[in-house]
Amino acid sequence: MKLKDLGEFNFINRISKSIRPSGRVVKGIGDDAAVLKYTKDKYLLFTTDMIIEGKHFYKSAKAESVGKKALSCNISDIAAMGGTPKFAVISVGLPGSLDLRYADGLYKGIRKAADSFKVDLVGGDTVSSGKIIINIALIGEVEKKNLTLRSGAKENDAIFITGNIGGSIKLKHLNFTPRVKEARFLVNNFKINSMIDVSDGLLADLGHILEESNKGAIICEKTIPVSRNALGFDSAVRDGEDFELVFTLPLPQAGRLEKAWPFATRLSRIGRVINRRKGFFIVSKDGKSKKISPAGFTHF
Ligand code: ADP
Ligand code: MG
Repeated sequence: MKLKDLGEFNFINRISKSIRPSGRVVKGIGDDAAVLKYTKDKYLLFTTDMIIEGKHFYKSAKAESVGKKALSCNISDIAAMGGTPKFAVISVGLPGSLDLRYADGLYKGIRKAADSFKVDLVGGDTVSSGKIIINIALIGEVEKKNLTLRSGAKENDAIFITGNIGGSIKLKHLNFTPRVKEARFLVNNFKINSMIDVSDGLLADLGHILEESNKGAIICEKTIPVSRNALGFDSAVRDGEDFELVFTLPLPQAGRLEKAWPFATRLSRIGRVINRRKGFFIVSKDGKSKKISPAGFTHF
């Protein structure tokens, strides 16, 4: 059997089943970041992401943007847990023939993202490689009361998304702002039951929330904020790398949230969490409801 026959998610499941976490692990594999015991009031968050030339970016992309992306996608995962990013280590695989200006550019981008989000860069590893590879691991913190998992969605929760989706195709994937301040506002002021950042695509990532929470959902096409750079509705809801936040909160808090939202970033209410047995549906613009299979981007 080949890896691609198993698929990315089954492969990760298989790893997950083979691991026995100790009592220090609050949440291991299966969320945007691992949640680890830390202090009386806080958890430590720990996440990593890797980007590879030819897969996540092309060599023609500006080095600074690539570096910024490499750290920003990790920061986005910390935001999705309700936390604050703190310390990063950066490992790079670089060809010996690489122009030094490109390597400096990568670090310029990494430093920019680190400065914007007060992340300390504290180490890494350097190896030679045929293609450019950047792997960053990031530690964050979250107050215990603010921890937001994928698994907490409740029936009748309102479903929201920040920003627009589908724009990643036109380079937004290289130039996005992780939604840390939005996430912190949410967890400090509302009862956010579940949250994820959109890396695999809206349907797939909302699907992860539903799966982990054992729930269904009904979402409404006309409320979904599609970017004007998107290739169309179907591709916008399935393509990955939007790095927006999808979250759910109790319906009675939805109106207050809409009134209190202080950011220029768009906020859209796109649906409601329902009983798992009813499934996952979308109501299209003509009022018909269709069952969704939440497939999005997978690596194999
Ligand atoms: P995200 O898109 O939020 O970064 P992923 O889909 O990459 O999340 O990963 C889902 C979960 O699987 C995470 O908890 C991640 O830590 C875990 N995971 C992914 N790859 C591996 C691996 N090779 N070994 C162990 N855990 C992994
Ligand atoms: Mg994520």
